[in-house]
Order: sequence, then C-alpha cells, then structure tokens
Amino acid sequence: MAMTMRFCPKCGNLMVLRTVGNSYIFYCMRCGYRMEVSKDSVMLKRSISFEKHLEKREEVAVGIPPGAIFAESIVCPRCRKNGVYYWRKQASSAESSDTIAKVYKCASCGYMWTELE
Ligand SMILES: [Zn+2]
Ligand SMILES: [Zn+2]
Repeated sequence: MAMTMRFCPKCGNLMVLRTVGNSYIFYCMRCGYRMEVSKDSVMLKRSISFEKHLEKREEVAVGIPPGAIFAESIVCPRCRKNGVYYWRKQASSAESSDTIAKVYKCASCGYMWTELE
C-alpha cells in the first residue's frame, strides 16, 4: 500500500485515489487539491489491482448462501488455494430435476463449480 500513497504538495496531508469518469486523480481531503494520475503509471496500476482485489472478496461473500459450509481442506482448481465454501442445490436441468448438486465456491478467487452426488 505504501506505493499508492501521495502527499499533498500544498498542505502535506495524505491524498486519496479517486475515480473521476474514466480517469483517476489523487485528491486532498483537507484542502481539495487534485493531482491527475497518468494512466500508464505503475503506481496507479498497483492501486487499481488492489481495489479490484477488495471488490472481488466482496463478490465472493455475496454469492454464498447462509447455509454454506466452509471447508479449509478443499483446494480450488483454479487458484490452488485452500478454503472453499460449499452448499447443496437442486440441479436446474429438466432431465435431472431431482439430482442434488454440490456447489463449491472458492473463498480466495470466487471460482464456482458443481459436483453431482
Ligand atoms: Zn492539501
Ligand atoms: Zn480460487
């Protein structure tokens, strides 16, 4: 996170990264000073990917029903990290309407897959 910090040249306060339309600026909350951030800035890319990472974690939590079980021993096939939520679900296919499927969702990357029992 240290790479994403900028201090206001006017008052020395810590500036925050803000989105304005399609571009990004650093904004000083104390005096209102704005600093344009160039799109190819390495520092900007890092801070955007960090924000995307946070958003992704929230998305992961959103798709999980209240009855889901967290299994730390299951490994995600996509990101290879331990820690997956799973729950049971009626398969929506017309041919196998009574088939129970297990739905898995990776707690790290949000990848979902199902398994028939
Ligand atoms: Zn300032
Ligand atoms: Zn994963």
